[in-house]
Amino acid sequence: MPIYEYACKACDRTFEELVMRRSDEDDVRCPKCKGKRVEKLVSRPAASRSGGDGGSAASSANCGPVG
Ligand SMILES: [Zn+2]
Repeated sequence: MPIYEYACKACDRTFEELVMRRSDEDDVRCPKCKGKRVEKLVSRPAASRSGGDGGSAASSANCGPVG
């Protein structure tokens, strides 16, 4: 789902908003202060943990017969 992360410029709060349409981006408000001065942050996957258990999307041919 197209969930974007926003940051409120008024109270400096970050929140995630589900944006279905492009026009909805103009209607995004801060859940805390109801401010409309929000800035869309760089889109990134929700699961962002360092040291995960294997999950590199990059093309790495490192699978072969061991031994
Ligand atoms: Zn706010």
